[in-house]
Amino acid sequence: MSNLKDNFFRIIDYLRVSVIDRCNLRCIYCMPTDGITTERHDEILSYEEILRVLRIGARLGVRKVRITGGEPLMRKNITFLIDSIKSIPEIEDLSMTTNGVLLNKYAHELAHAGLDRVNVSIDSLIPERYKQITRGGDLDVVLNGLASAEKAGLDPLKINMVPVSGLNDDEILDFAKLTFNTNVQVRFIELMPSGSVDFWDPDKYITTDQIRSTIESLAPLTPVRLRRHGPAKYYRMKGAKGIIGFISAITHHFCEDCNRIRLTADGKIRPCLFSETEIDLKTALRTDASDLEIERLLRLSVEAKPKGHSLDELHQNPPREYDKHVKSSLITNHLMKRPMSKIGG
Ligand code: SAM
Ligand code: SF4
Repeated sequence: MSNLKDNFFRIIDYLRVSVIDRCNLRCIYCMPTDGITTERHDEILSYEEILRVLRIGARLGVRKVRITGGEPLMRKNITFLIDSIKSIPEIEDLSMTTNGVLLNKYAHELAHAGLDRVNVSIDSLIPERYKQITRGGDLDVVLNGLASAEKAGLDPLKINMVPVSGLNDDEILDFAKLTFNTNVQVRFIELMPSGSVDFWDPDKYITTDQIRSTIESLAPLTPVRLRRHGPAKYYRMKGAKGIIGFISAITHHFCEDCNRIRLTADGKIRPCLFSETEIDLKTALRTDASDLEIERLLRLSVEAKPKGHSLDELHQNPPREYDKHVKSSLITNHLMKRPMSKIGG
């Protein structure tokens, strides 16, 4: 049982670690149009620093680790990190979220190093559209990566899809149908207000309820209980092998069950994705702080977790009823100051 308990009696046993703030894609809902400024190489935590945080975190009760980014497979020698995390005895579950571009190259090495699972982000199954959403990505490359991950035994394979109104929402059923014949988990994620003010607009986001009813027009959904389910709620379509998950950060937020904190690539602990509060670990790590001091900062980060977020303000009125001014001030208030690629989604 974790010793990390926040002020609202939530047990924190999950650390999401962003290992890089760079990416080889520039998805339109994640990155601002004019790109992001990235940190200098020496501002990014080294593997030794990340491993030190993880070892101390594990002593406090961290049991589950997800490696993310930016694009984690762009970080040199990533399999070394996976292998080293795997050797921390307390860590029971080690996964990665990737855009899959380099998965074909690394899937076997990653599995060999001890990675348990991957989530691959794909927002369209139409090559031209995929290219448009990712500003240049090649769908075939990612599908080859998925096939390699499956062959390498990175199981269960999860696909993350962010439906955006007028962009890819006509593909919700095509994604859902992927679960008919394979053991894949397809997870639909509500669009969150990050990236750029230009892109984010309440008119663009589709609620979980809307996604669900689109899928239910094809086949009824039966709830599935998983041992480790995190914030997603899972269902199976009648006759399907795989399952469908919904991550409803905005409309059915899951703050009461939140069990995670995040470590950004530049060494800040972010207690809540939707709060700008960050605790600086890097300075401590680079000024000879003792393990006890790092432990104190980790505990402080857990204590700094807010009870919840108020993003549902963006949803409470039907989006089209917002007047332009209210809408833009709401978006500005809620827009995350760091893009997702710099937090580690
Ligand atoms: N590059 C990797 C990838 O794309 O999987 C890992 C980092 S990415 C920030 C992690 C996840 O965040 C992806 O599944 C992506 O779709 C999701 N994401 C990014 N921006 C988002 C947004 N504004 N709303 C919802 N999900 C978002
Ligand atoms: Fe890169 Fe992932 Fe953001 Fe797309 S969602 S730009 S792949 S970090």
